[in-house]
Amino acid sequence: MPRPSNKPIQLLKGFKDILPEHQDYWEFFTNKAKVLMDAYGFKKIDVPILEQTNLYIKGTGKHTDIIEKELYSFEDKSGDNISLRPEFTPGIARAYIEHGMLNKIQPIKLYSLGPVFRHDNPQSGRFRQFHQLNLEAIGSDSPVVDAELIIIAYKLLQSLGLAVTVHLNSIGCLECRAEYITRLKQFLQNSGRKKELCDSCKERYFKNPLRILDCKEISCQEVLADAPQIVDYLDEECKKHFMTVLDYLDDLEIKYNLNVKLVRGLDYYTRTTFEIYLADEDTSKSQGSLAGGGRYDGLIEIIGGRPTPAIGFAVGIERVISKLREQQITVPAIDQIDVFVAQLGVEARKECFKLYQKLTDAGVKVAEAFSKDSLKSQMEKADQLGAKIVLILGQKELMDKTIIIRDMQSGIQEIVNYDKTVEQVKKKIDPVLSEVKSYRIEVKDNLAENSEQFSEKKQGALKQPKKNKDFKSSLDLADDDLLKDDIVDIEDKKEDYLIEPVEGEDQPEESNKEPIDDF
Ligand SMILES: [Zn+2]
Ligand SMILES: [Zn+2]
Repeated sequence: MPRPSNKPIQLLKGFKDILPEHQDYWEFFTNKAKVLMDAYGFKKIDVPILEQTNLYIKGTGKHTDIIEKELYSFEDKSGDNISLRPEFTPGIARAYIEHGMLNKIQPIKLYSLGPVFRHDNPQSGRFRQFHQLNLEAIGSDSPVVDAELIIIAYKLLQSLGLAVTVHLNSIGCLECRAEYITRLKQFLQNSGRKKELCDSCKERYFKNPLRILDCKEISCQEVLADAPQIVDYLDEECKKHFMTVLDYLDDLEIKYNLNVKLVRGLDYYTRTTFEIYLADEDTSKSQGSLAGGGRYDGLIEIIGGRPTPAIGFAVGIERVISKLREQQITVPAIDQIDVFVAQLGVEARKECFKLYQKLTDAGVKVAEAFSKDSLKSQMEKADQLGAKIVLILGQKELMDKTIIIRDMQSGIQEIVNYDKTVEQVKKKIDPVLSEVKSYRIEVKDNLAENSEQFSEKKQGALKQPKKNKDFKSSLDLADDDLLKDDIVDIEDKKEDYLIEPVEGEDQPEESNKEPIDDF
């Protein structure tokens, strides 16, 4: 009898363990994402990793690389053809239909975080299991929703410490796109240059011609240099929709580039489509975007629901983490706390006990040493725990209704109004995310109160010969020129649309910055 082999069983090809010592970046990403999801009112949904293969064939599109080459499919014991999810969107669209979510107030805003699977060639440096954060807003065709999603993706990456730029385009609705595809094919046929395309693009010409636009092969790029551009074929509705999205982004000073060759590979995408790259990245040489998504007004109907507009995007978590590492962005250790509450005196301790609960309720990672009396030993503990800031409340502060906020890295102390403690703490822990709420209110206000006024204004702007006539040429301009061109508009609009700052922010009269050395 042969001896049983003791050869260790190894990991599957293309799969990876995430060890405890690598969890810090994951935690960092997840925490930032959760704060944003809460701020923007996105609710978590978990859908199964396995679904019927048919869902992806219909929902992702038969002639996409994902389905043709990368789908992780097999027959199970009962003979059903099932697949590991290659992306989240079709599964969430299925859940939206199956649970009658269209009867609730629209749009339904959902997010998921978890693994997706593609049976790709692991040699190319890609993993067969990787992770995405995925957002969907289903049930509204309003351009403000497009802008809101782009802003969330942008803010998320920014809050992680990455400087990024949004690349965006509109690929129109099915009607304007059909017209464009005919013209694109005519161009390739009539110019006699179809034969210069790479082999994949020769196939795409028949199956998925739009994808020829984002082929990375230089020969294909050259052929396409003079090709017609999709933005010239947008009908009035699609054009207006796109202009409004750009307008919202301008209002919030989001950095973007218009990229007329940006198309998404999936059949159900319509109108706005976007990807986010590092600000200084050469996208033609890039391995891929950090985040990408767009509108998919056709999907719900394709998989059996009523026609329902929707938009979503996904962030590649491994890709983001590798950029954080490359840029040597340090992240807090998993058990690191944000705030330490220190007290001096019996009354102050009682008040600090309440403050401690308030901070934990607000989701701040906070620690204390209420059993200690000396400030020195409390500060030592704060230091050991790696607290970013220490709040100090003594008898004097208690009487003045103030509190001292000490930045442990710089040693700078500020005295702030006691009632504003939680807000001030949040602002110090994460300045980017603390702005988020005011952005959200602004976008909502635009939608609720100014929507009529806004659309009138936009119609007016579109009728103006400058914007209307120059629509195409403005898309050809360098981003800088375009932004300059719009500066006057943005300034004008700001007065109309900006709301009062959130209470408690930017109130220098309440805070006295002074370096401290008396500990
Ligand atoms: Zn259209
Ligand atoms: Zn090609």
